[in-house]
Amino acid sequence: MTVEVPIVYRCAAPGHEAPRPGADHHITLFRRQWAYCAYDSKSTGHDWVDTGGVPLASLEPAESRERSGVAG
Ligand SMILES: [Zn+2]
Repeated sequence: MTVEVPIVYRCAAPGHEAPRPGADHHITLFRRQWAYCAYDSKSTGHDWVDTGGVPLASLEPAESRERSGVAG
């Protein structure tokens, strides 16, 4: 059973909508809460916006998960 941790912030910075090639890290901590950046959480220039707390699955693009399954 997986415990779903709510993502309280997501990044809305320009240019951070799409994943950076090779980026493995999309989750980071911001103000002691989990934050998600589609581009690269280790990058800089994020613009964190409050999501109100949503599951990670609702933020991750479905296509990237399919791709990683095929690439295996
Ligand atoms: Zn970002």
